[in-house]
Amino acid sequence: MEAICPVCHVGRLQPRVISYVRWLGDSLLVVNRMPAVVCDVCGERAYDDRAIQHLQRLLMMSNVDVTITSRPYYLA
Ligand SMILES: [Zn+2]
Repeated sequence: MEAICPVCHVGRLQPRVISYVRWLGDSLLVVNRMPAVVCDVCGERAYDDRAIQHLQRLLMMSNVDVTITSRPYYLA
């Protein structure tokens, strides 16, 4: 399914697999191969809602994951 871009109203949102990068406090979270849609005209991007929810569930289940925190837990 294709959707018209909400930003430029010209391009279409194409499914892509990109990297999700986000700061969580002092820690940088990087998720490779994140499903997303990217506008083929202006480059506007939106991440897949289900993938975001899945990621948030994973983060909640793991509480503090050493792969997403740049500083040791005991220093937090
Ligand atoms: Zn666009």
